[in-house]
Amino acid sequence: MAAKLAGIRPGQRIFSSDMTFDATINPMVYEGACPVFIDTEYDTWNMDPAALEKAFALYPDVKVVVLAHLYGTPGKIDEIKEICGRHSAVIIEDAAESFGATYKGVQTGSFGRYNCISFNGNKIITGSAGGMLLTDDLEAADKVRKWSTQSRENAPWYQHEELGYNYRMSNVIAGIVRGQISYLDEHIAQKKAIYERYREGFRNLPVSMNPYDVSNSEPNFWLSCLLIDSDFMCRQVRGECEALYNPEHGKSCPTEILNVIGSINAEGRPIWKPMHMQPIYRRNDFVTREGSGRAKTNTYVPGGAVGKDGMPSDVGMDIFHRGLCLPSDIKMTPEQQEKIIEIVKACFD
Ligand SMILES: *Cc1c(COP(=O)(O)O)cnc(C)c1O
Repeated sequence: MAAKLAGIRPGQRIFSSDMTFDATINPMVYEGACPVFIDTEYDTWNMDPAALEKAFALYPDVKVVVLAHLYGTPGKIDEIKEICGRHSAVIIEDAAESFGATYKGVQTGSFGRYNCISFNGNKIITGSAGGMLLTDDLEAADKVRKWSTQSRENAPWYQHEELGYNYRMSNVIAGIVRGQISYLDEHIAQKKAIYERYREGFRNLPVSMNPYDVSNSEPNFWLSCLLIDSDFMCRQVRGECEALYNPEHGKSCPTEILNVIGSINAEGRPIWKPMHMQPIYRRNDFVTREGSGRAKTNTYVPGGAVGKDGMPSDVGMDIFHRGLCLPSDIKMTPEQQEKIIEIVKACFD
C-alpha cells in the first residue's frame, strides 16, 4: 500500500536499502518498481548516505527511497532525509524490525511519508502476522483503508472504481496485537539485556557487536549480531546455497560459529544476504560510495575490492562475510546465553 501511495509505476526506478530482508523489496516490485540497491555503512549497518548521494548523481530522476532499519537499529535518518529532501524524493520507511526503536527521541516508523511496521511472528511484538501502515497524511490513510478492504465505494451496493486488495488486518490479530503492545518496552529491555550480556561476554574476543549511534539512537535490540575482525577470520567460502571453511587456531568464521551454535540445538543465522547478491536481483544496479558500474559477479572475494579509504567497497558483502546473528530470543535464559558465549569463545581457541 505504501508503494502504491508513493505512486510507483511499472518500470520506475527506486532506491532501496541493500542489506535487508526481501520483504522490503517485494511489495515495490509487485507495483513494477525496478530497485537500485544502495550500499551499507559500518556505523549502523544501514543505508550509506554517501552511496545514496552517489545514486542520485547517477539517477537524478528517482523519486522514491525505501529505507530499512536493520535488526532494530535506526539508520542515518537525518542525513538520508536531507538528501531525499534535496531531490524531492519520498521516503518509505521499513520499520518492520525496529518497532519501538528511537532516533533523537522519535520512534522509527515516523520519518518517512509512508512507514511500515510488521507484526509477523518473529518481530519484537507480534500478532502472528500482519502489520501497520503509518502516515501523517489523512487522505493517504483513507485511501489505504479503502484499497485494503477491496476498494468499495460509498454506495448502497458493492460499487468499485479502483482495484481492491484484501489486506485488512483480522479482528483476531488486531486483538492480539493490542494485547502485545503493552509489552513492547519490556521486550526491548529484555532484548537490550541480551545484547549487553553478549557484548560483555565477548569483550576479549576479536569481534564487535552490531553497532549503533550511541548518542542519537536507541535501538530495540531485536537481534544481537557479531562481526569478526578481518584479521581473525579463517578462510570461508560461500556458494549460492552452501558454505565451506578451513578451521584455524585463534581464528573463526560465521560458518564455524553457526555450526557450533546449531550443534547445541540453538539457532543463529547468517547476516541477511545483501539484495544485490540475490539471484533474483542479479541484473539490478548497485551503488556504493565509490560509485556504480561494478562488474556484476556472483562471487565475493574477501578484501578483493577495496575503496579509496582502504575499506572494502562492497560494505554489505563484507558484513555478510564476517557477521552473524546470535540467538536473541527473550525466552532464552541467562544460563543458556552463557553457554552460547562459551562455545563462541571456544571457536577462537
Ligand atoms: C519482517 C520484515 C518485513 C515484513 O514482513 P511481513 O511478514 O510482510 O510482515 C519487512 N521488512 C523487513 C526488513 C522485515 O524484517
